[in-house]
Parts: sequence; C-alpha cells; structure tokens
Amino acid sequence: MARIVMKFGGTSVANVDRIRNVARRVKAEVDRGNEVAVVVSAMSGETDRLVGFCREAATLYDAREYDTVVATGEQVTTGLLAIVLQSMGVPARSWLGWQLPVRTNDAHGSARIQDIDTGEVISRMLTGQVAVVAGFQGLGPDNRVTTLGRGGSDTSAVALAAALKADRCDIYTDVDGVYTTDPRIVPKARKLDKITYEEMLELASVGAKVLQTRSVELAMKEKVRVQVLSSFEDLPGTLVVDEDEIVEQELIAGVAYSRNEAKITLVGVPDRPGVVAAIFSPLADANVNVDMIVQNIAHDTKTTDVTFTVTRTDLPRALDTLEKHRAELGYEGLVSDAAVSKVSVVGVGMKSHAGVAQTMFKALADRGINIQVISTSEIKISVLIAEDYTELAVRALHSAYGLDAA
Ligand code: ASP
Ligand code: MG
Repeated sequence: MARIVMKFGGTSVANVDRIRNVARRVKAEVDRGNEVAVVVSAMSGETDRLVGFCREAATLYDAREYDTVVATGEQVTTGLLAIVLQSMGVPARSWLGWQLPVRTNDAHGSARIQDIDTGEVISRMLTGQVAVVAGFQGLGPDNRVTTLGRGGSDTSAVALAAALKADRCDIYTDVDGVYTTDPRIVPKARKLDKITYEEMLELASVGAKVLQTRSVELAMKEKVRVQVLSSFEDLPGTLVVDEDEIVEQELIAGVAYSRNEAKITLVGVPDRPGVVAAIFSPLADANVNVDMIVQNIAHDTKTTDVTFTVTRTDLPRALDTLEKHRAELGYEGLVSDAAVSKVSVVGVGMKSHAGVAQTMFKALADRGINIQVISTSEIKISVLIAEDYTELAVRALHSAYGLDAA
C-alpha cells in the first residue's frame, strides 16, 4: 500500500466525460489499496476566461479580487470529481484551498505556499476517503483567497505530496512523459524513463513546458518523487528523481529551444571598470531579465562591444531603458535582433565528461549554422542562433548526441 497524490491538468478535466475518465484512474489506485489525494486544475481554457473577465471589468483591478475570481475554476472541477467518484462508490470529498487550509503569503496572483494543514485529510484518508483538493489556490495571511500563478496546480500537487509525505506525486497531463526534445520537431524523440530534478529544472527554464518550474524546485528541495504521465493512455511515464537514482546516466538528457529571445549589442562602450554594472543596473530596475552575456576584450582601442540577450517580450523595454541612459553609458551604437533563438543541451553527464561542448559546436558547424552567443552552466550549454535554423539545429544536436530512437 502506498500514499499517492494524483494531479490532473486542465485538458484531463475539460468536461464531465473526461472527469469520469479521471475518476476511473483514481478508483483504480484506490482498488489497489492505496491512499489517494487528488489535485485538479480548472477545465482547460477556464482560467483564461476568468482572467478575461477581470480585464474586461477594469484595467487596473484589485489583485485580491482577481484571485477571488480566477480561483473559482478549480472549485468547479473538485466538486464535480467528488460527485463522480461518489457515484462510482468511492468515498470522496472536495477541499478548497481555504478549507485545509493551504497557507500562502500575501503575493496575490503569484502567492507562495508556506504550510499545508493535512491533519483532517490524513485521518479521512486512513478511513478510505479520497481527498479531492483544488490546485492553484490558497489562503493568505489576511484570510483572503490567493492563487499561485499560472500553471500553479503542479506546485499545489508537489506541496501536498510533501506535506502528506506521499510515496509519489503523479502528474497526469496531455503528454505521456518528458521527451529528449520536442517530438513535433524531431519525430525520433524518445520518452525518458527517468530524469533528474536538475535536468528537469534546466529544461523547464529553457523552454520545455511540461511542469511549472516552481513545482520542480519544490520537488527537488522536498525530495518528492514526481512522475509525469498521460491521463489518456495507459503507459509508464517519466520519473523525476535524484541524481543517484539514475544508474546508467546518459550524457545528455535533452535538447530544448526557445524562440522568445532577442539580442542587443552596445557598440563602442568605454572599456573601464564599472561599465558593465552601469549597463545592467538600469535594466534590472526596469525589470528586464538579462540572460546570456558576452563582452569582447578591447585590444588597441579604448572601447569594447557588449552583447546580451533578453526575452523578446522585454526587448522594447530594454531598448527604451538603454536609450534613456545613453549619455551616461557613453556607447556609440545600439543594435538589436529579435530573429534569434536559443538552443540548449542539458545533461548531468556533462559534469564528468569532456568534449560535450565540442560535439555541439561541430554538429552546428557541419550544418553551416553560425553561433552568435554561447553560455554554459554545470549541466547546460546554450547557443544563440538565427531563428530560421532552430529546427535544423535541434535535429542536428539530437542526432549528434545519439538521442534518436532506433
Ligand atoms: N488553472 C490554472 C491555470 O490555468 C492552474 C493550472 O492549471 O495549473 O493557470
Ligand atoms: Mg498545467
């Protein structure tokens, strides 16, 4: 017997028929003798619809009332799932965030979970009752409803699994696991049996959208065993685990890409101490996240070029900020390019193997793809390239690291 948390996303609970399918999966775990808590999202599209109402009501809305509105999507699906479970003879009850409660801070719209009171739920689970818990929502310090930020029900599920000391947190979604890359680009992409928390985090941060990044951070910190699997097919999924649980470590776990990138170059920047700080502090003040950075070494002249990337969404704000500070920064020119993308390879195997970067550079060179900027972490290498080459680069790297399915 195990204690498990099962989480179902929006597409899995999109209508009552699908909720019935979810209930069958829950019942199967109960019939195996497991103690089960379920976390659900709102029906797919519902949260967008609710957010739309708030925007329609006022341009500047009270974030506390926004949370009151958008949290309702999950109230509907918890109630419906409990009803369907009961009709199948499975004892179940719904729990809203405030009823447990799931205590959060007061950052309405992007609240963080601080504590979950599981006393009552555990005693009922011990009698065989399934707890159906609303994802995405909590209770703030002033007793008002909070929400955790878009995609937050993954985090609800992991936090609940940690609080319940569950053996597993199964995240049911519309994909059947974590792939070595986007199967829409590389049909030979393979589903991974296991991936480490670190790799999952890096992949999530560079564009793989399977799990909300915060949920992976939390799972890593609390050592929750997470499994990503399909709610529509009976297939084993991908387990997200600690590094030492993976015996045969592949060099590279996956190749990811992001098109939400833009490149900025400041030409002819005075080459003296403090200049980089002077460039990046106004950007930080304007809430622009800078990602990859290169600064050329000045040789004969007294100036240098500084190139860096920001998200494409932030590009106008970044350029505006730099223009405003032109006089004090003293650069000669400002050039930007939004037709770029970032392609990354991720794998903990990099820590202990040489030549990983070389394989990447050679594979790209062989296809005539020019590398514009490079950045690395302990387990990730990212390159910035022209956007038109994104697919070609992803395919080339997937083969170069031997990830193609036979
Ligand atoms: N329903 C929320 C959203 O759409 C939370 C979630 O689905 O994870 O963002
Ligand atoms: Mg989701």
